[in-house]
Amino acid sequence: MSCLFCKIIEGSIPSRKAYEDEHIVAFHDIAPQAPVHILVIPKKHFAALNDAQPEDIELLGRIQLAAQHVAKEAGIAESGYRVVTNNGPDAGQVVFHIHYHVLGGEKLATLGGKE
Ligand code: 5GP
Ligand code: ZN
Repeated sequence: MSCLFCKIIEGSIPSRKAYEDEHIVAFHDIAPQAPVHILVIPKKHFAALNDAQPEDIELLGRIQLAAQHVAKEAGIAESGYRVVTNNGPDAGQVVFHIHYHVLGGEKLATLGGKE
């Protein structure tokens, strides 16, 4: 298995876990872009939002609730946070196991910036 995030799920690559249940793992990003930067991923491997199927509807909802949970645990639920998934080259996706970034702990830059 070559997927980096599958290795984090199985524990062969270490991570700083923020949350885990039967379906979801959340862990702190190795190169944080904000004071709080947590990645929320499903244990089921698929590459990106493009690959989500109708049967993944419940799982996609679980990801949002896990994002809410880690935001509350990190103390940023009231100050505010952003949840974002990068899909494909123009979004800068580099890891091809779907993941949602939870960012907060400071005033975030305006959404949709260009390089
Ligand atoms: P993408 O650009 O694909 O949406 O974001 C991938 C994210 O994964 C980046 O924010 C990057 O810092 C993070 N990342 C890459 N490798 C690792 C790793 O080995 N451990 C952790 N915790 N995060 C990683
Ligand atoms: Zn994977």
